[in-house]
Amino acid sequence: MELWQQMIRDSVHSVDQLVDRFQIERSDAEKLSQFFQARINPYYLNLIRYKGDPIWNQCVPDNIELEDILGVEDPLREDEMSPVPNITHRYPDRCLFLVTSQCGMYCRFCTRKRKVGNSDKISMKQLESAFKYIEDHKEIRDVILSGGDPLMLTDYLLERILKRLREIQHVEIIRLGTKMPCVLPQRITPKLCDMIKKYHPIYVNTHFNHPWEITKESTKACVMLIDAGCPVNNQAVLMRGVNDNADTIKELLLELLKIRVRPYYLFMADETKGASHFRTTVQEGIDIMDKLRGHVSGLAIPHFVIDAPGGGGKIPILPDYVLHRDSEKIILRNYKHDHFVYHEAKTKRFFTLSEENQPKVDLVNKSNGESKNNGDGKKEEQIDVTNLVFEKN
Ligand code: SF4
Repeated sequence: MELWQQMIRDSVHSVDQLVDRFQIERSDAEKLSQFFQARINPYYLNLIRYKGDPIWNQCVPDNIELEDILGVEDPLREDEMSPVPNITHRYPDRCLFLVTSQCGMYCRFCTRKRKVGNSDKISMKQLESAFKYIEDHKEIRDVILSGGDPLMLTDYLLERILKRLREIQHVEIIRLGTKMPCVLPQRITPKLCDMIKKYHPIYVNTHFNHPWEITKESTKACVMLIDAGCPVNNQAVLMRGVNDNADTIKELLLELLKIRVRPYYLFMADETKGASHFRTTVQEGIDIMDKLRGHVSGLAIPHFVIDAPGGGGKIPILPDYVLHRDSEKIILRNYKHDHFVYHEAKTKRFFTLSEENQPKVDLVNKSNGESKNNGDGKKEEQIDVTNLVFEKN
């Protein structure tokens, strides 16, 4: 058994452990476990500094989850967009392929609680219909392996999936959506990296939410993946009690860049059942983004998005940089709230001359071009105007 597998075994997960370790009332611990089981591995547990800190809040079950009457089980309607088991096909050229229900840690804010935890929530027996679906849909260029966490599979099983996908000609890119570099970095082993290298291009989307998650171990895991040729991007979620202020987000983004991980998305929290207490207002998110743009390198700035409820996909949100716009100009403000006018380019309409309007040009003094005698001693040039364009306005 590899070290990471042993650490999964050593995780806090049972009702007894929740009672002993976190002083949760037994009856509450039972209800919480029933609602969404806990798994806190020894590595992530060690990152907790005090009760209620940003690490604790992400992993320790809380009664408030049971009081949530607003959240819904599948806010992104992934299940409705699932043509065959294990596949969600929302965007034209890419699909989500759920390959396991297991994770290295169960995040209390998880959007996919309905799919994650018990092994029967995502069936591994139905992978064949998923492969067939991808094979039959030639528009799918990009497959995102998710779950659960695909790095919970053994190297052997993961390689079988990668190999099979690589046999499908139209699959250009494979992405691994994994939180392991953050929550259980011991999973990133030289053996795993050597295996992954064989199936490039493979991109890794990982998920750090707080600067305390960037440790010696998680840095090493990210660097190993990057050195194995995988671009690593981060998808953070803005969450109350975790990272809901500009200083924390800024530190997170800058620390990520230092370990060569590119901040990719900052999500508004989904309207997920049991996770409403994590939600901030959209304005808080916009204010945070406003404190980033111009103040830190553009490399550090993620797309701030709402994953639209009902399956509308990711929609970017920006602070209001456009103060006014008409046909002639746009008035903008910069990060210091200074105003600037940018003038629109003059509208240009281009057209191709119709046959009858083609110009006849006296060729007497011309030497190039196809020409013919027009009967009066002068030559006319038939100019090919197909590619000529004229400014109309
Ligand atoms: S790792 Fe991802 S899928 Fe697993 S519990 Fe956390 S958010 Fe959910």
